[in-house]
Amino acid sequence: MLHRVETLAEQTSLEWIEQSSLTLLKQVLVDGIAGNTALVSSFGAESAVLLHLASRVDRSVPVLFVDTRMMFQETLDYQRKLADYLRLSDVRTVSASSTQIRREDVFGRLHLKDPDACCDLRKTRPLEDALEGFDSWINGRKRHQSSDRANIRPIEADENGRLKINPLLHWDREDIEAYFKLHALPRHPLVADGFTSIGCAPCTARVKSGADVRSGRWADSEKTECGIHVVNNKIVRQVA
Ligand code: SF4
Repeated sequence: MLHRVETLAEQTSLEWIEQSSLTLLKQVLVDGIAGNTALVSSFGAESAVLLHLASRVDRSVPVLFVDTRMMFQETLDYQRKLADYLRLSDVRTVSASSTQIRREDVFGRLHLKDPDACCDLRKTRPLEDALEGFDSWINGRKRHQSSDRANIRPIEADENGRLKINPLLHWDREDIEAYFKLHALPRHPLVADGFTSIGCAPCTARVKSGADVRSGRWADSEKTECGIHVVNNKIVRQVA
């Protein structure tokens, strides 16, 4: 009996947060409450959940994928496979230009001496350029992921006057796992190899069992965000 009650409670909880995320996505993608909108995805360990939810509302939503040219090959393969699987019709790969990279990181070692400058070059600026013309952007941040993210709200403003939409703010790891299972979503191949949060290859490590999900990101430094996200209603733009 207790097991049945617990199972029912879990199902009800998942249905509630799923519906709440879908409601926000419909308001944004169908009703247009946030103007012209793009979805930003890293095609990482948990990205399939937000992409699947968005695909249930509008498969033609512009999806921006920032390829830093430091990605795992598995991520690039997964990006194509997942986009096909969900039949997303407008996935746009965004990168710093070869000229910019030659000028600022010719040996590809900037991440070792100044990871903030590297993220600024390879992620923040290309994304800012790609977001030109959009009024808002959807992302997959969750409150449980870190103290920096504990107070995120469904809709926030960034310093460029754009709205940032956070449909997954209430989701925790159990909800994510349950949703993957319920919809039989394809997993990023590195998840089975111990990677629970996946960014660029040089800055991502395996996570020990029971450790914080994002502890494998910039594991040897104090850095926790790539610089494209909002803290206290400001984009943290970390320029060297
Ligand atoms: S995560 Fe690492 S390699 Fe990727 S852009 Fe940031 S510092 Fe550079």
